Amino acid sequence: MDLTDKGILLVISGPAGTGKGTVVSNILARSDDYALSVSATTRAPRKGEVDGVQYHFVTRAQFEQKIEDGQMLEYAEYVGNYYGTPRERVDAMLEEGINVILEIEVVGAMKIKKLVPDAVTVLLLPPDYKTLEARLRGRGTNTEDDILKRLEQAKREVGNFASYDYIVINEDGASDEAALQIISIVDAEKHRTARNLHIPVDFMAD
Ligand code: 5GP
Repeated sequence: MDLTDKGILLVISGPAGTGKGTVVSNILARSDDYALSVSATTRAPRKGEVDGVQYHFVTRAQFEQKIEDGQMLEYAEYVGNYYGTPRERVDAMLEEGINVILEIEVVGAMKIKKLVPDAVTVLLLPPDYKTLEARLRGRGTNTEDDILKRLEQAKREVGNFASYDYIVINEDGASDEAALQIISIVDAEKHRTARNLHIPVDFMAD
């Protein structure tokens, strides 16, 4: 008799500058049970970003075509660009028992929760607004206009905290801890009764 072998759809959101990328890389490095869904976006690649690795970089016309063809599981506009999760592979990976991470903003996160009610949504937050601003400026890859828009967006996202299932704080220099906390949330979710309705049947069969 075993607990569910289906993967969990794990949504991780957080204001720009929270350190989502570092925490997600940390989770992926710790466990083969996780995979990151690579989103499509119309924003330009930042220095060092590679097409197909951080994102699939596409034009607006290509993105709109994907929406029309029903290829996007969800999508949203963020600071003037489209971002979306390709439908392809997500279901297959969940069936294979892989926990699929969607690193997406709040509108997309809420669409996923509606579409896939047993998805687990985590809001990753920096310790405070000042730290967020310092991290965002320290990145050095965004324009001033983009930084200001992202900071405004951050306030809205934090205000939306109650829509998420879990909150994790990414303290300075503690991405290990944040990653471990998220892994323990997923481990606990695997034990949720509603995910294990096969147990009484297996119990009698064994
Ligand atoms: P960035 O430009 O900093 O890479 O991403 C901007 C925002 O878009 C982040 O909050 C990121 O989580 C979000 N994002 C990335 N991919 C997706 C996606 O596929 N769908 C949605 N809804 N948001 C996304």
